[in-house]
Amino acid sequence: MTVDVLVIGGGNAALCAALMAREAGASVLLLESAPKEWRGGNSSHTRNIRCMHDAPQDVLTEAYPEEEFWQDLLKVTAGKTNESLGRMAIRASSACRDWMRKHGVKFQPALSGTLHLSRTNATFMGGGKALVNAYFRSAEKIGVQIRYNSPVDRLELKDGKFVAAYVGEERIEAKACVMAAGGFESNLAWVREAWGQNALGEWTADNFLVRGTRYNQGVLLKNLLDQGADAIGDPTQAHMVAIDARSPLYDGGICTRLDCVSLGVVVNKHAARFYDEGEDFWPKRYAIWGRLVAHQPGQIGYSIIDAKAVGRFMPPVFEGVKADSLPELAQKLGLDVVTFMQTMSEYNAACREGTFDHTVLDDCHTENLTPAKTHWARPIDTAPFYGYAVRPGITFTYLGLKVNEQAAVHFKDQPSDNLFVAGEMMAGNVLGQGYMAGVGITIGMAFGRIAGVQAAQAALKSGTTKTAVWSELVEDLASTSTSSVRTGDQS
Ligand SMILES: Cc1cc2nc3c(=O)[nH]c(=O)nc-3n(C[C@H](O)[C@H](O)[C@H](O)COP(=O)(O)OP(=O)(O)OC[C@H]3O[C@@H](n4cnc5c(N)ncnc54)[C@H](O)[C@@H]3O)c2cc1C
Repeated sequence: MTVDVLVIGGGNAALCAALMAREAGASVLLLESAPKEWRGGNSSHTRNIRCMHDAPQDVLTEAYPEEEFWQDLLKVTAGKTNESLGRMAIRASSACRDWMRKHGVKFQPALSGTLHLSRTNATFMGGGKALVNAYFRSAEKIGVQIRYNSPVDRLELKDGKFVAAYVGEERIEAKACVMAAGGFESNLAWVREAWGQNALGEWTADNFLVRGTRYNQGVLLKNLLDQGADAIGDPTQAHMVAIDARSPLYDGGICTRLDCVSLGVVVNKHAARFYDEGEDFWPKRYAIWGRLVAHQPGQIGYSIIDAKAVGRFMPPVFEGVKADSLPELAQKLGLDVVTFMQTMSEYNAACREGTFDHTVLDDCHTENLTPAKTHWARPIDTAPFYGYAVRPGITFTYLGLKVNEQAAVHFKDQPSDNLFVAGEMMAGNVLGQGYMAGVGITIGMAFGRIAGVQAAQAALKSGTTKTAVWSELVEDLASTSTSSVRTGDQS
């Protein structure tokens, strides 16, 4: 029997789509490439979702209105975003938590540390693994069919319409389809080809580590691009974090990230600084440091702090290299001691200490130093000193499929009637570059929900779609900065 809606992928975006399509009355089959124990993609590594709100709301403090969220998005992407789609995701984040709770997701107050998130991001109790487990449980309960170990190789299309998907030789028909199979970050050959060689002749991506799942190989993305789907985004743009150089190739997750950059300085393998470590709050800057390190020789950096920074950031899983003096630290890290000491002396001498406050853009900055450190600049002078070697950790790529407000895939600028896409596979419509914490899940939630309802409508020919689901979605998406505050449990 042909299923109404086929959902491809098993992360946040796919699950949101599957739940919505099923709630709207469609029969739904979800195909997850990973085995059950590895289900959930990158979403299983997450911790929080960025949400707009006009007043304190359950786990969120103060207010984070639509306009501020939008201005933040504009800033981090340097304008490379689609305002209509960006604002849809932002508005959808206002009321989504009630729907998420309905499907078993629990929230908790933000953790403290270098990510200043209690105002902007709602934290999942139990992390992303608990999020996807709750969604999978709920999906099973309401009758979504789930198949693991089912990587889709290709789609059969006719005149821009979805006909069937192939898992190996098996052909699976459906009336409509939502693709939410992630980016191509885990496909090392594709990432290598996209980044190419640098001026030193190095294959830059050979030193990348993948922070999340190994299953986001971009097979479906490639297949759709080959079949003429409209693309968006630059293949080298990605969410990239500086992570401990000792991290595993895949699935190192959140605990390998180094969060002390803004509390110290970062030098390259020639012991030179290369970027303003205190440019902005860490949640708006952490995702550029992987890229910055990728552009350094050997794709390696060294984050240096002193005793004053200890206790002010979430410690990474690996211990730093510890030394009682800066020359000893340089030696232990394999850096040229003379150059390192010159870099550190120049930095220390340039610090104009004001009132150090890591929770605001404080007035501790450098003077007459290139590159400057514009906030939280304090001399690195108190033993013990610590150094961490960091590598580019790729989280997810931004090259994706172009969509409209209905999350429809486009072919030669024409939206497909029954093929939709959500999550990392289309995040490039909103994120042309840059990132801010929590917005990946916001985008997947918003467009996953939209894609699910649209696919159900396409399959059931709109009239029979359960109107309650449609109204709920419309209401959630239409929330504006003047919307009333909803109440929910505090968990
Ligand atoms: C360590 C880490 C921490 C993060 N923390 C946060 C955070 O706190 N907040 C936030 O907003 N974002 C965070 N992100 C980013 C976030 O994970 C992504 O933006 C988001 O989860 C993407 O959701 P998705 O559903 O599009 O993709 P994924 O969750 O990656 O799901 C893709 C799914 O598709 C499946 N798949 C792939 N190819 C196929 C195929 N051919 N056939 C069938 N299935 C296939 C995969 O197995 C996987 O289940 C983090 C990422 C990482 C790696």
